[in-house]
Amino acid sequence: MLKKILSLGLSLLMVWFNTVAVFASTIDVATLSTLVNKPYVELLEITPKVNFPEKEINDFKKNLEKEKASEKIRLEKEEAALKKQVVLLEQQLDKLNKKSSTDTQEMEKERQSLHCQILTLERTLKQKHTEHSHGLSVIYDNKLAKLELIQKWPLKQKEIEQFILSGNARSRRFGNVEDIGIRKVGEGQEKDIRLGEESLQQLKSTGLMPPEIEDKELIAYVQGLADLVAANSDLRVPVRVFLLDSDEINAFALPGGFLFINRGLIEKASNESELVGVISHELAHVSARHGARLMKKATIAGIFYQAAQVAAVLLTGGIAGIGMYYALNYGFFGLGLVLDLTLLGVCRDYEMEADQLGTQYAWRSGYDPKGFITFFDKMASEKGYVRSASFFRTHPAFFDRIVSTFSEISYLPPKDELIMDSTDFHLNKEKLVKIAKSAKEERSKKAKASLKKPSPCDE
Ligand SMILES: [Zn+2]
Repeated sequence: MLKKILSLGLSLLMVWFNTVAVFASTIDVATLSTLVNKPYVELLEITPKVNFPEKEINDFKKNLEKEKASEKIRLEKEEAALKKQVVLLEQQLDKLNKKSSTDTQEMEKERQSLHCQILTLERTLKQKHTEHSHGLSVIYDNKLAKLELIQKWPLKQKEIEQFILSGNARSRRFGNVEDIGIRKVGEGQEKDIRLGEESLQQLKSTGLMPPEIEDKELIAYVQGLADLVAANSDLRVPVRVFLLDSDEINAFALPGGFLFINRGLIEKASNESELVGVISHELAHVSARHGARLMKKATIAGIFYQAAQVAAVLLTGGIAGIGMYYALNYGFFGLGLVLDLTLLGVCRDYEMEADQLGTQYAWRSGYDPKGFITFFDKMASEKGYVRSASFFRTHPAFFDRIVSTFSEISYLPPKDELIMDSTDFHLNKEKLVKIAKSAKEERSKKAKASLKKPSPCDE
């Protein structure tokens, strides 16, 4: 009897589980709200199999826009509340100053605590501001792009298939992928080397450049990947890799082949194909001479000077000395947020061109060109908008970019055994984290020692 009850119970439980499972999988495929949270790579497989009435899509879009608006209000309220707290603390400081002409020991303690609280609040305030001015739109632009993809990708995919069948695939712009290395993209790259060198000097002299990671093995690893991509690209100048010790998830290239990769970016990449994807994209900017075309020689100094001023305010809160300690840690605000975009050759058409060419270079180097998309996606879906904000400030626009990248992937002749990952990547990544950690400790120690007074936030 007991056995019977148990087995009945068990089968009921199984029925329940099955129902839940069926229910869950139906939801998984059917609702727009689950679909806009799916990775792009998965979404592109799903879209041809689903069909939504236009009204449902439009309603969903309106809801997303509403959600974005209320999220914006929430962040603004948070910002206002923080500002109020700062004002209150400043009033307390004012009161303290009116008490007497010099501090007693107790007053000095109170003053230090107030200084520390104000500095900490101001820092939080700046992060909040970045969230709401850059990060918020990244999150929603990404969801809207996914929605548009659900609507439009199936038709686009059919068009591409037909175009390939008609024998005209190579007549698309930059369609002659078999001629990479021979074909002419961005003629006159050699002229950019001097421009890049000058920019590099300017960048260094403003003190804006994060410290370089000097480890020979690590540099050789990334340089090796960059050289491989360069050999499979339209680049006619040598690449020089700089590894920067910055938390910021970003990479950028100066005209003439100077490639900067931040530690934060390598730490965030899950596999080698993602890193290669970013390198390929940046080298595509150099190949097509985007930066050089946009950068007017006369304004380089101006761009860096302006960036240095913005950085000084962001990093130090206007208070030298104490701020230096923060600056040396390169917390949230990286180079990407303060550099003028024209320097990096960022504009919508150039981005799409770099996406297309970058896809070709990664593919021709033997890597899975989807790596760039999975990285891009991860950045855009990141919780806590701040860390990814600068990556997208220098790399704007969503839907069109995903479509142009995926179209290119669909056009490329199929290749067996594309590389996704390697043990080398993970070994180097581990080493990088270790090296950066000890370098950071060393810098904080030096920075603390160089301050005449201890930071008010130190015990
Ligand atoms: Zn770009």
